[in-house]
Amino acid sequence: MKTSNLLLSTTRETPADAVVISHQLMIRAGLIRSLAGGLYNWLPLGVRVLRKVEAIVREEMNRAGAQELLMPVVQPMELWEESGRGIDYGPELLRFKDRHQRDFVLGPTHEEIITDLVRREIRSYKQLPANFYQIQTKFRDEIRPRFGVMRSREFIMKDAYSFHMDRDSLQQTYDDMYQAYNRIFSRIGLDFRPVQADTGSIGGDGSHEFHVLADSGEDDIAFSTGSDFAANVELAEALAPRGERAAPSAELDKVATPNKHSIEEVCDFLQLKKKAVAKTLLVKGAKEAAPIVALVVRGDHELNEIKAQKLEWVAEPFEMAGDEEIKAAAGCSAGSIGPVGLSIPVIVDRSAAHMSDFVCGANEDGYHFTGANWDRDAIPTLIADIRNVVKGDPSPCGQGKIEIRRGIEVGHIFQLGNKYSTALNATVQNESSRSQVLEMGCYGIGVTRVVAAAIEQNNDERGIIWPDSIAPFQVCIVPMQMHKSPRVAEATEALYQQLVGLGVDVLMDDRAERPGVMFSDMDLIGIPHRIVIGERGLDKGEIEYKYRRDEKAQDIPAEGFIDFLM
Ligand code: ATP
Ligand code: MG
Ligand code: MG
Ligand code: MG
Repeated sequence: MKTSNLLLSTTRETPADAVVISHQLMIRAGLIRSLAGGLYNWLPLGVRVLRKVEAIVREEMNRAGAQELLMPVVQPMELWEESGRGIDYGPELLRFKDRHQRDFVLGPTHEEIITDLVRREIRSYKQLPANFYQIQTKFRDEIRPRFGVMRSREFIMKDAYSFHMDRDSLQQTYDDMYQAYNRIFSRIGLDFRPVQADTGSIGGDGSHEFHVLADSGEDDIAFSTGSDFAANVELAEALAPRGERAAPSAELDKVATPNKHSIEEVCDFLQLKKKAVAKTLLVKGAKEAAPIVALVVRGDHELNEIKAQKLEWVAEPFEMAGDEEIKAAAGCSAGSIGPVGLSIPVIVDRSAAHMSDFVCGANEDGYHFTGANWDRDAIPTLIADIRNVVKGDPSPCGQGKIEIRRGIEVGHIFQLGNKYSTALNATVQNESSRSQVLEMGCYGIGVTRVVAAAIEQNNDERGIIWPDSIAPFQVCIVPMQMHKSPRVAEATEALYQQLVGLGVDVLMDDRAERPGVMFSDMDLIGIPHRIVIGERGLDKGEIEYKYRRDEKAQDIPAEGFIDFLM
């Protein structure tokens, strides 16, 4: 492409709300323009990058055996009512009515839609496993859209959904997706880490996030210095041992008002805090147990061990041998999940008489909390305090200490189990011709967020430095005085045509601008390879080449230039 044919909208100005470098550079380089809060126009240069990210994602999804389909952005509310998520999802879900007063939502994700599709289309176990994906616009009415396309309201996601007859098959596809995600982010050239993660409002059991490491990230990632353990702190805090810090009983003592909370309220709160383990326990336990008024999660075991324990507890909520000390002191039914040290104590209220001043805590001296009286406003303080993992704490994996770094969540994979298939009754015939509920996984990548994350990791004072894999153009040709020198114009055009013929994405700057302007624009928009053609070089039979990260240009003999470049 030639710049004369490209909307090259570079600018020095950045809006006041552009506080992170990727947002500033995406505006300055003319990749995006703001339309309204959390809504962006993607300019042609930006779309080129977006399409390259999509192409890599698509190739790797296809390679992993996923099938591409396309589902509507507009979704009927009935399906969200059927899944029970209409209420759970909260105000991020944008609802509206059509002219017939029917309720719809703008899709923030597509579990309901794909599950509805699959329950109609897939009849037999012989058609499974199957993994479907799309690259599609999502809308989430984020409370605080910010950082440009990193947290926008409308964005593009690659979302995939897999369906299985059993857990082993789900695990297999989950592992394949885990590998595919590693390949995708490696190919893009990002410095990223897969980490154990919470499952948020999507629910389910196993989950990993893929984080691009950057100071501007909104998530804290806890790493172990002694192993490859890594987890989002949202989750790591729930798994981490307390280390040497004092038990927060002083905080608890401040919690004064005896106040009974419904299970819905407690669940609601825990969901807000995105506390995977606790949430699942509560929700599952609630079906058969009396209201749980207090639940404290602390653990020093791997997530899968907790999972195993959890299932046992759900089956027999009151039979689990409790921590006797807690039980006696609390004077109410108390169960402590897992072996000594696992520390997921659960206190179950079976009568209003035992609502106040109970004791809870871990199976560990010095970590029992006394005088716990729950009041809605106080619960957040309590939980935040308990889950506060900091640098230097022992790692939950038992090896090394905690290091904390900031991460940008660019991908998230989940084992959903049968949450949606049960709710929506997605069943197929198994080998014995009985109908069986499907197991399900889902796998997201924030395609638009990836573009911003790549810039967060690749920039300097002159602008963006694209990894070759997603650069809008891999090469730019900047001719010196082309409009005055027919010789330069001719050589430039010839090289341009040659590169185009070789399938190189090349941008030729044919504007009648000063060299300084062209250089600074090409640097700002981040083209990795720059070629300069001028009279002097032509005289010497040389072409000037500069890699975007290099300080100095080099003169390459024109003869072997293409070989050098390729
Ligand atoms: P976050 O924690 O950042 O709010 P999420 O956990 O809500 O993200 P998921 O439901 O896991 O997001 O969606 C899959 C992917 O979609 C995320 O990993 C992220 O890359 C992307 N994504 C989510 N919300 C946004 C947003 N508001 N703007 C851009 N990308 C987003
Ligand atoms: Mg979110
Ligand atoms: Mg998240
Ligand atoms: Mg997520």
